[in-house]
Amino acid sequence: MKRGAQVALVAGGAGFIGSHICDRLIDAGAYVVCLDNFLTGRLENIAHLEGNHRFSLIEHDVVDPLPRWAMRFTHVFNFACAASPPHYQADPEHTLLTNVVGTRNLLQVAEQCGARFLLASTSEVYGDAEQHPQREDYRGAINCTGPRACYDEGKRAAEALTFDFVRAGRCEARVARIFNTYGPRISPDDGRVISNVICQALEGRDITIYGDGSQTRSFCFVDDTVEGLLRLMDSTGPAAPVNLGNPEEVSVQALAERILALTGSNSRIVGRPLPEDDPRRRRPDIGRARQLLDWQPTVTLDTGLTATIAWLESQVASGVLLAAE
Ligand code: NAD
Ligand code: UDP
Repeated sequence: MKRGAQVALVAGGAGFIGSHICDRLIDAGAYVVCLDNFLTGRLENIAHLEGNHRFSLIEHDVVDPLPRWAMRFTHVFNFACAASPPHYQADPEHTLLTNVVGTRNLLQVAEQCGARFLLASTSEVYGDAEQHPQREDYRGAINCTGPRACYDEGKRAAEALTFDFVRAGRCEARVARIFNTYGPRISPDDGRVISNVICQALEGRDITIYGDGSQTRSFCFVDDTVEGLLRLMDSTGPAAPVNLGNPEEVSVQALAERILALTGSNSRIVGRPLPEDDPRRRRPDIGRARQLLDWQPTVTLDTGLTATIAWLESQVASGVLLAAE
């Protein structure tokens, strides 16, 4: 779609998914303001956009009052929030405030500009799900006092706030429930399973499997997720949360074995304790995305892993610090 008349605010735009959104918007002719506090984002993700007259960067925390804008945004994307458990648990209070106060600040920008708002929510709103696969009408099973709550409950509150704005006619909004996404630009020290295992395999270090490795996830390649997000932002009809993920479900053990095969690594697989409240199974029902957006993932796990391995290899070659594990 041509986006020549669009002016987009992309909060969290220096991060993994947000930077790919910035690229797609710029490529289509939009003006993009990327706002990021660089908690987990990296300048390298957007360095190639520096100097483009349609791109600007503001270093700012969404929890703090937002600047007064000279331009009128047509679209506001909210990707601002660390997505990896070790990062979002490092300062849980800030994570919760990012999701609640930060989302409110961005919703108010959308309201003031008459812009459409998109919230990057998460499959984590389903918690350790009792329904499988997870449909959007499933209300979830979350431990609100556990170490993941700052993120899970923060995102649930962000969704609640978003739909309150919609009900009150204060802005138009879309909510994407993103399932585990991976691909180029994932940070080597991100701490999630795919980047950890690939970096460990490339360096010949032990592969750390938490628990017995039988827990499952469904991994979606970033290009597929980004395509779904843009289609969702542009979609018509009433606001409703939409799952975006790849229904191909894989155990963590099987994932690690796949990565070992693709890298040709001799690393050993070693066990580590399963983190508290780690969901046992996760797979999206993407019926709603298929119907509303005519969207489904197109990249297979092997193809996506191969691209991600190449990316992380290039990071190793350029001397970027590898995962701590
Ligand atoms: P990421 O950590 O790479 O990106 C998050 C970005 O937000 C970073 O650039 C970070 O610096 C910025 N940020 C964090 N807190 C901020 C704050 N208070 N103010 C301003 N900027 C802030 O993570 P990602 O994987 O790109 O995830 C992007 C969004 O998508 C997040 O909201 C995440 O919850 C959501 N999501 C991601 C996944 C996934 O698998 N990657 C799954 C579900 C949901
Ligand atoms: N995990 C693992 N080894 C690692 C990192 C994660 O076995 O080095 C496990 C983790 O316990 C979880 C799964 O892999 O069961 C996915 O973890 P990730 O942090 O990537 O995503 P999330 O738990 O947020 O879905």
